Amino acid sequence: MNSGLPLLDALVAHFKKFPGVGEKTARRMAFSVLDMTEEEVKGFAETLIKAKESIGFCNRCGHFAEGELCSICRDKRRTEEVICVVERPGDVFVLEASGQFRGRYHVLHGVISPLDNIGPEDLRLDALKKRVEEGKVREVIVATNPSVEGDTTTLYIARMLKGKGVKVTRLARGIPLGSSLEYIDTDTISRALEGREEV
Ligand code: ZN
Repeated sequence: MNSGLPLLDALVAHFKKFPGVGEKTARRMAFSVLDMTEEEVKGFAETLIKAKESIGFCNRCGHFAEGELCSICRDKRRTEEVICVVERPGDVFVLEASGQFRGRYHVLHGVISPLDNIGPEDLRLDALKKRVEEGKVREVIVATNPSVEGDTTTLYIARMLKGKGVKVTRLARGIPLGSSLEYIDTDTISRALEGREEV
């Protein structure tokens, strides 16, 4: 939409890049920015820049981190015996919200998908193998999204870790095929974790 106000249009265009945000919502968001005090807008802009500059990935598990290690890897109260493997950093928040899991995570940053040209070497699978080879891990729970690619990745991990003294499990069925963990309620996640089955 051309409003005759180039800066307003630019602001709307930025908001439209967010997932699930269409023209109307983007315009409402732009208007609410204009309603903010100058101080609020400056705070918002500074947080955006600082977040982008300072939030990277944990050296150990691949989750979001503001520094070398994420808060979960730094937490000594969590067991190192269980690692939950997920596709994306966002999935960690979903599993954490269930309050069920007290182990560590490993974020793959994708799944094996031959159609998209994503092979095992493009994911953080080597790093997972190294963590398991350190000898403290007893169980690896694969919590990829329920999809053909997620299943392929689970089987790959099970094969990769065979003979390394760890049990490889996956979330119980009951999470609808093709859905993504982020849209699943915490009760269902809890049940899926509890009823996990060996691969
Ligand atoms: Zn970490």
